[in-house]
Amino acid sequence: GTHGESVSLSVENMTFSYPEQPVAALRDISLTLTPGEKVALLGRTGCGKSTLMQLITRAWDPQQGRIMLNGVPLTQFDEATLRASMSVVGQRVHVFSATLRDNLRIADDAADDYALTRVLQQVGLEKLLNDAGLNAWLGEGGRPLSGGEQRRLGIARALLHRAPLLLLDEPTEGLDADTEQQILRLILEHCHDKTLLLITHRLHGLSLFDRIAVMDDGKIIEQGTHDAL
Ligand code: ATP
Ligand code: MG
Repeated sequence: GTHGESVSLSVENMTFSYPEQPVAALRDISLTLTPGEKVALLGRTGCGKSTLMQLITRAWDPQQGRIMLNGVPLTQFDEATLRASMSVVGQRVHVFSATLRDNLRIADDAADDYALTRVLQQVGLEKLLNDAGLNAWLGEGGRPLSGGEQRRLGIARALLHRAPLLLLDEPTEGLDADTEQQILRLILEHCHDKTLLLITHRLHGLSLFDRIAVMDDGKIIEQGTHDAL
């Protein structure tokens, strides 16, 4: 299995159209992340960033090309192995109608209260512990979370999930610039031996990444280090 080890991710000449859509959302995408590499995926709204991430999680299969983890096509993995191989935080974080504890433990059902409290402090959500601790009720009928708090909850889950590949879709969206820097550093620290693909349309903090890939209109139009671009 890939759990706990570094993985490579490679997307090869991939083209994808959504069902019933005449125009391809992704066109001839090739992108390789070596084990432990940190790549920021940049591009304006609607260019296909989230779509690419969804194909990497196998929410859809491409019409052409393929995606591989450690050289093995995604189509050869069973669902459980695939889920254990990647930590995914989508653009919208789902808050379950459940306790704060259970909202975190979906990422790691072996995490104890000490570990959960620590991760809440790391992402700046310790305030949520004030009323009922980890028993605080979230979601429907519970404490509403702001957009920024939802992002932080997503990041907390990503930090708890110990998969070797992290896929984060705009994890710092809606956070102020200082918090964004702090959270980016936290993510990169957590990922030191993991492979990371992080989607953003912000330019802050890009120098922290090994490489930047820029998308436009369904294609990757540029790739390189921060200094080179
Ligand atoms: P943003 O920065 O706003 O999140 P994005 O780069 O993530 O944008 P995508 O969400 O990947 O962009 O969308 C790429 C294109 O695919 C857009 O034209 C969008 O309208 C279209 N699209 C996204 N989801 C679907 C869907 N489920 N069915 C059909 N078209 C879709
Ligand atoms: Mg998106």
